[in-house]
Amino acid sequence: MFYWTYNLVLTTFLSRSTGKIPMECKVEKNKSFCSCSYSSCPRQGICCDCVQYHLGKRQVPGCFFPADAEKTYDRSFEHFARLVTEKKV
Ligand code: SF4
Repeated sequence: MFYWTYNLVLTTFLSRSTGKIPMECKVEKNKSFCSCSYSSCPRQGICCDCVQYHLGKRQVPGCFFPADAEKTYDRSFEHFARLVTEKKV
């Protein structure tokens, strides 16, 4: 109860003083969803970094692909678009 109240007060104070709402880190929850087979990637579970990294290379993250396509590590827009056209995504 104390932690919840403390968190609420802190969140309210921070959002009023900075205009921003602090987010709780969801790395562990995201990792349970992540279907990327490149297990040593330092961005696993950090979806914001993962998306930014791949968009900068004209790619989409591994979790956009079905398992067999993901394993090819071809994360290009073209590969994704081809799979969409073939209704495999
Ligand atoms: S999709 Fe790319 S950036 Fe994201 S976890 Fe896999 S290898 Fe890392």
